[in-house]
Amino acid sequence: MIYFDNAATTAPFKEALQTYMMTSERYFYNTASIHQSGKDAARLLEAARGQILDLMDLKNYDLVFTSSATESNNIALQSMLRRKKPFGKTILTSELEHPSIVNVLEEMKQDGFTVKYIKTTESGTVDLSHLRTLMDSDVVFVTVMAVNNIIGSVQPIQDIILILQDYPKVHFHVDATQAIGKADIDYNGADTMSISAHKFNGVKGAGGLFVRDLATLKPVQYGGGHEYNVRSGTVNLPAIAAMAKALRLTLSEARLVNQRLKDYNLKIRAAVKDLKAVYVQPKDAPYIVNMSFIGAKGEVVVNALSKRGIAVSTTSACASKLATLNETLLALHNSDEVIEGSIRISMGRTTSEEDVEQLITALKEVYEELGDVLK
Ligand code: PMP
Repeated sequence: MIYFDNAATTAPFKEALQTYMMTSERYFYNTASIHQSGKDAARLLEAARGQILDLMDLKNYDLVFTSSATESNNIALQSMLRRKKPFGKTILTSELEHPSIVNVLEEMKQDGFTVKYIKTTESGTVDLSHLRTLMDSDVVFVTVMAVNNIIGSVQPIQDIILILQDYPKVHFHVDATQAIGKADIDYNGADTMSISAHKFNGVKGAGGLFVRDLATLKPVQYGGGHEYNVRSGTVNLPAIAAMAKALRLTLSEARLVNQRLKDYNLKIRAAVKDLKAVYVQPKDAPYIVNMSFIGAKGEVVVNALSKRGIAVSTTSACASKLATLNETLLALHNSDEVIEGSIRISMGRTTSEEDVEQLITALKEVYEELGDVLK
């Protein structure tokens, strides 16, 4: 299978798997145990934490290890909103967020919060002038992702931080799950930020929540008090050590990988340029190309490619419990037909030129095969 679904998950680095195995064998201990082996495990945990904070250049931050970005997002949103409630009820977010943000916010409406959506520009980024008009004294929370998971648009995180400087009571959360190694973003100034190891060639089951002021964060799930009493539960040290390794390798090769993926991205776009019934979404982070076979269903295209040994994903599926069509593509004012016929091609460090050639051949074959269905 030729893999073009790296936005869903990535193949772990061999080195990350080795770290996982080695840590599982030699440091399987509970980091909360006070015997020497437990202390050794705890030291390794702190080394991983320090290394990740260093690599992300977030030296004045703390890092809470979690199991996933979904968990990190839930902790940041649920914990901070509970705390902010007496000070205001308005939450601002982009129209582009992942369900692990949108569905939490929708649930928070039950608690009396109002959720307002910041408009989207034609290129798929949050509209900063609209954000400015939405800011008022009732706003307590703003959450915007760093890189969108459907089309790869890179969001202006530092511009948002600048706007929010005039509103000190606002908590700014960034979901950076898709951004690691994909876009060079400075997160200093954000209050909390989420990452997930399996999106940057680490192993599954490790995530992180970077926190500017740990004292403001409360658990959403109670237990034995691990991870600064924010995220209780025996820590997944092997996956965390592997995450630190994967992050270092990802960042060290990012420039080269992105240059290569940029060329592939342009090549794929050029190859479908003359196919009348294909519409391609705007380009940004190089690893994603989202295109629609207008008149067909995305699932049909995904299946036709799958039969040819190529794995891509559909974006026509419901993104959250809010909408029946994908919200990112809706935010970009795409027609229902474009959204229903869309597929997401997402590349990664293992994608080769030959993979791209085969994808292009298959895309053209599927286009021919669909024939009259297409418009
Ligand atoms: N946020 C974004 C933008 C994502 O793309 C994803 C994964 N699809 C998540 C959050 C959730 O990540 P995880 O799988 O680690 O829960």
